[in-house]
Amino acid sequence: MVSYAKYIFRCITCGKTFPSQDAPEYVCPVCSEKQESGKSLLGVLECLYNYEDYKLTHSKNNAGNEIIFPPVVFPPLKVGGTPLYSSEKLCKKVDIKNVWLKDETVEPTGSYKDRASYLVVAMAQKKGYNKITCASTGNAASSLAGICASAGIESYIFVSASAPRAKLVQLAAYGANLFPINGNYDTCFELSLQATKEFGWYNRNTAYNPWTIEGKKTASWEIACQLNFELPDQIFVPTGDGVIISGIYKGFFDLLQLGWIEKIPQLVAVQPEGSDAIVKALAENEKDISKIYRDEADSVADSLVVNAPRNAEMALRSLKESGGYALTVSDDEIIKAIAEVSSSTGVFVEPAASTAWAGLKKARETGKITAEQSAVILLTGTGLKDIASAEKATQLPLPVEPTLEAVKSVIRNPWSVSGVRCQVSGVSN
Ligand SMILES: [Zn+2]
Repeated sequence: MVSYAKYIFRCITCGKTFPSQDAPEYVCPVCSEKQESGKSLLGVLECLYNYEDYKLTHSKNNAGNEIIFPPVVFPPLKVGGTPLYSSEKLCKKVDIKNVWLKDETVEPTGSYKDRASYLVVAMAQKKGYNKITCASTGNAASSLAGICASAGIESYIFVSASAPRAKLVQLAAYGANLFPINGNYDTCFELSLQATKEFGWYNRNTAYNPWTIEGKKTASWEIACQLNFELPDQIFVPTGDGVIISGIYKGFFDLLQLGWIEKIPQLVAVQPEGSDAIVKALAENEKDISKIYRDEADSVADSLVVNAPRNAEMALRSLKESGGYALTVSDDEIIKAIAEVSSSTGVFVEPAASTAWAGLKKARETGKITAEQSAVILLTGTGLKDIASAEKATQLPLPVEPTLEAVKSVIRNPWSVSGVRCQVSGVSN
């Protein structure tokens, strides 16, 4: 499902380009000399292809079957090709022209991160590595571990010991070499960089490894093809480190370079109030990357909790160049959105994913999207990853006696003490 093309890397901080045969493994060697530990990355690399060459042998009509990539052989697990659903119910709730859900809960390990891991693992194998490491809030780690299991190579994972239990258990089940660290994501990120240098592993850290961004672009190609190139006006992206939004931008950027689309949809970064470094940086037009930071980031949407968004520079550029914007939502709004998305669409989402829907509601309330416009919300991960948060959004029924009488009693009086109908809070009111 890929199509190979020649490429170069370009540093987004200084603009220096590197031919593929002479490309740095991770970030720009010049800019990274000024890198401060624990801060957003300098010198993130973007992959640019020879689009003119590619156009000669490829057509828009076949874009759904071929995505422009460097030459690699992918692992056996099937990644991408996820559904795009139109939701009348959600559409009515916000009263806009159309709402589509990009359902990433059906990726093999249950999250959008598989798109990045897929390419990174393929690249590691091409380069001859048989050990890969990463730091993660949970999903990137379980994704890497699952895809490494599929490819038959070893993963070394640094993840906060406080990550949701399902994510830790998933990692262990995949056979990852797991380091549950007594520290936050930012601590794990720095530690994994040290381990990479010490042990010579390949590193999948998001944005630090440029292929993570390139892997995450594929959803844009899919959305374009699924909508027959009639693109939505806005795309709502749950945002932590800023790599997914940069990947979405890159996918559309490729299509624009090929002349297959006329403009990139407005991208909307949605962050939790407690982890809002990118929203603030955009509002303040912050140019100093080291200042795109917040202390003690915290949210129920654990996947989005970062002090220093590692791909802040590229995320901000993606927002500006797409004419997009950024907004925050509260943890209460995120929890409420879990029940709302799940009960309205049948797609069971984790807090980070419901953040996209909470963001669309907020945008509509504040007039940032109009009734005549359409939106895609990226549902980035399954609710099975974080049952504890989903539980906050629901009310489980009490046990019911195994008699028809008891069942009738519950039907007559759902709120009696003998049994409570499973009621989704916050949806009907
Ligand atoms: Zn540079």
